[in-house]
Order: sequence, then structure tokens, then C-alpha cells
Amino acid sequence: MPRVVVVGAGISGLATAYHLSRLRPDVEITVLESAHRPGGTIHTERSDGFVVEHGPNGFLDGVPSTLELAREVGLGDRLVSASDASRKHRYLFLDERIRELPRGPGSFLTSSLLPMSGKLRMMMEPMIGRGPGGPESVAAFARRRFGRAAADVFIDALVTGIHGGDPELLDVRAAFPRLTRYERESGSVIRGVMAAGREKKRAARARGESLQPQRMWSFRAGLRELIDAVVARLPAAPFCGVDVESVSRSESSWHVHGNSQTWVADALVLACPAPIQARIMSQLDSALSDRLAEIVCNRIAVVALGFRAADVPRPYDGFGFIAPQNTRQDLLGVQWCSAIYPDRAPGGMVLYRALCGGWHRAEVVDWPDDRLIAAVGHALRSAHGIDVPPAFARIVRWSPAIPQYMLGHPERVAEIDRLAAGHPRLFLTGNSFHGVALNDCTANAKSVAGRVAESLAGT
Ligand SMILES: Cc1cc2nc3c(=O)[nH]c(=O)nc-3n(C[C@H](O)[C@H](O)[C@H](O)COP(=O)(O)OP(=O)(O)OC[C@H]3O[C@@H](n4cnc5c(N)ncnc54)[C@H](O)[C@@H]3O)c2cc1C
Repeated sequence: MPRVVVVGAGISGLATAYHLSRLRPDVEITVLESAHRPGGTIHTERSDGFVVEHGPNGFLDGVPSTLELAREVGLGDRLVSASDASRKHRYLFLDERIRELPRGPGSFLTSSLLPMSGKLRMMMEPMIGRGPGGPESVAAFARRRFGRAAADVFIDALVTGIHGGDPELLDVRAAFPRLTRYERESGSVIRGVMAAGREKKRAARARGESLQPQRMWSFRAGLRELIDAVVARLPAAPFCGVDVESVSRSESSWHVHGNSQTWVADALVLACPAPIQARIMSQLDSALSDRLAEIVCNRIAVVALGFRAADVPRPYDGFGFIAPQNTRQDLLGVQWCSAIYPDRAPGGMVLYRALCGGWHRAEVVDWPDDRLIAAVGHALRSAHGIDVPPAFARIVRWSPAIPQYMLGHPERVAEIDRLAAGHPRLFLTGNSFHGVALNDCTANAKSVAGRVAESLAGT
């Protein structure tokens, strides 16, 4: 029986193991996980009637991979979509107050977030010629195509909300591959977005459906349901509490070492963060290890606070607000969890979740709980007028949190792939390489599982 070891039981490792078990039911799959539970950054806690996500809050249906996985593992009737209001109303936190982001061309024209000159420059984007290609920061790309004002306001907010990073440092080709594809294929991001919209409409009509706006999804009891359902469908539960330290090779096998034990495998999948993959590979291949170590991650503290609804004088309805990183605030933003999904707070209560720290304010993650709560409380006082201490608080610290696709990331990943290909049946996956969203992780997992199965053909 061929044996495969998967290191890391986050969604990437678990989904790889799941898809592989479907493709090759005869393969023995062992998943090793250093934490005491599977799921990685996906974890939901129910406490005092609040449903608190420790990590991600949902996934979009623009890419179908996570939705498909959820349905495959029997969660079709457990799905909940984010409220209409949370899809439509998103805000920025600037100068201690909340400002709504435009929802379409009409509100863009009347928005006070950009001066008229910035709006006109942004509307000229379809007339701007293609760039030279090659490494370019998100900020430089945005300034070139949309102008400085739009880059400072909208693109910073986008980077803060998705990557918790710095647009001057992230590589646009890796952080927002769709933007560079639109420029390449349509000569303009705006034209590319419109063409993609027309194509989606056409495909929906061909299926006899009408085009639905993109939505965010979770499950009734939170994202942990996905982890539990995938784990339940694996041929064997992950081994938790196993800190994989290194790997070595004999003639045709991998030897995986951790907790003074060794697992032998025909194929090895590393699905832990790149800095950990670097450590695991260091004795076997220092060049590969060095390149993996160049992929750095930010740090984030999640601060979930519950209040009595009666204590919130300005309860906006929507997704929440982003605190753009060029203002270097303590927090990256706040999600209005109980306005996004039903049943996230007990009756008469509301639940907010702030993400604090990020690339430029990593030190915030080390603040003691009371200082973190005070920092978030300060923002909530300005934004919502809340003047009482929270009735509920839960803090989770992630380090590493989200990998940062710094300038040159695509070339770095290509070099990592080239070096990894020198080792028979070694597969590197996880959110460090080809996208940080859950959808990227689940899509990559399916493709890695296919490649592992292919590599075992004939065994
Ligand atoms: C605060 C936060 C909010 C987010 N919000 C969203 C969101 O709303 N939507 C979205 O799409 N994405 C979001 N993301 C991103 C998304 O959650 C992650 O990219 C994704 O969950 C990563 O999955 P993964 O399996 O690749 O990595 P991880 O979840 O990091 O899993 C890696 C696993 O490897 C294990 N491991 C590490 N070292 C070892 C070792 N030596 N031996 C064995 N095991 C090891 C770890 O314990 C972990 O379980 C968010 C991320 C964070 C941190």
C-alpha cells in the first residue's frame, strides 16, 4: 500500500488529504499536525452564547472550490450566506470616523473619499497603456493605473482587508493576480472587470440562471464545521501534537521526523507555513530551505468583543470598517459579526471582531489583553459611540498569521518549485505560495492531490 504523509492539518493539508483519499482510496494517508487540534487558523469557539471565529470569517463564491468542498463533505444544508447589508455596506475608519465606501458608479461620483481630480484620474484608467510587466508593487501598479489618490484610499484598504500588509511591498502579480491579468488581456483593469462580468452573465444565462452577486459564506455553527466534516471523511484522523522537525530520504522513501518518532512515506506533502517548511527542509536542501525562509508572514491579534445592543448608540448595518494601514492604526479593521451572519451573538447582544497588528504594527500583537481591549474600545467609541466596557471579550493571537507576497514572489515561488522538483514525490502547498484566501487553499489542495495521485501511478 503506497503511503503519503501530509504535514499540517490546516485547510490546505486536510483538503489535500481528502481529495487524495477520493482519487486513491488504496493509499495510506497520514496527516501530522503540531497543534492540539486540526484546522490551522480556522477555528470557531462558542462561548457565553457568542460564536467567535478565531481566524477567517468566511469565503466568497466567486471561485467555487470551497463551496464545492463543503457540499461534497455533506455541508450543503449547513451553509449560511452573509447578509445583504454586509455585501452592500463597507466602511473606512479615517480621522476617527466612519466613511462609507462607494457601492457603484453613482455613489463613487458623490463620495467625499476622493477629490474630483482623483475621481477623474481614476476614470481615465482605460486610457492608460499597459505596464512593462515584471515585478511591481501593488501601490506602484495602482498609482500607474488609477492615480495616487485612488491608490492611497481604495487600494490601501483592499490590501489591509485581505493581506494585512503594505501595498508598497507586496507584489501585485502575486497579491492580486486578477488585476495584472485584466491589464494584460484587456489592456485595462476596468475593461477587464466589465468583460469578466459580461462573461459571467453569459455563462449564467447558458445555465438558465440569472447572475447572482458574489456572496460570502460560512456555516451555521461557523467555519469549524468545514474542518470537522473534512476530518470525518478522512480514512484516518490527523495525528495532533506532532511537531515535525525534519525529513530525510532513503533510496525511495521519505522519512518524516517529529516527537522522537519517524514516519516513512512514498510521497510527502508539506502544508505548513513556508517558514516552517524551510526549517523542515533545512538539513536536506539548504538552497530550497533558504528560498522558503524568504516568504515572511505578518502577525495578527483577533479581538472579539460583545456588547448589549442597547449600549451601541450608532449601530451601523453592514460588513464593518477597515483602518487603512497607511494611517498605521493599532487595528486593521473591525467586522460586525452579528450583522454579517445570524446567531453570532445571543439575543439583545452584538458581536464585533477587530483584527489588530498586521505588517507594520506587529508589536501590537504582544500587548497584554487589557491594552488590546482598550485600543479596540477606543476605535469603537469613535465609530459607534460605545462608552461602556465590553460584556464579553475573547482574544486570539496568530504568529505567523498571513504570508506576505513580497516583491519578486512569483520568481521566488518558481525557484522553489524548481528546487522542490529535484526531490522525488515532494509537494509543497499551503497559503504561502499561490493565494491566501480559503478558496485559493482549497483549489490548490485539489490540484496538489491530483499531482500526488499521478506521481503514485503504478505503485
Ligand atoms: C486572522 C485571519 C483572518 C483571515 N480571514 C480570512 C477570511 O475571512 N477569508 C479567507 O478566505 N481567508 C482568510 N484568512 C486566510 C486563511 O484563513 C488562510 O490563508 C488559510 O486558512 C490557510 O490555511 P493553510 O492550511 O494553508 O495554513 P494554516 O491554517 O496555517 O495551517 C497550517 C497547519 O500546519 C501546522 N503546522 C505548523 N508547523 C508544523 C509542524 N512543524 N509540524 C506539523 N504541523 C505543523 C499548523 O499548526 C497549522 O495547523 C485569514 C487568516 C487569518 C490569520
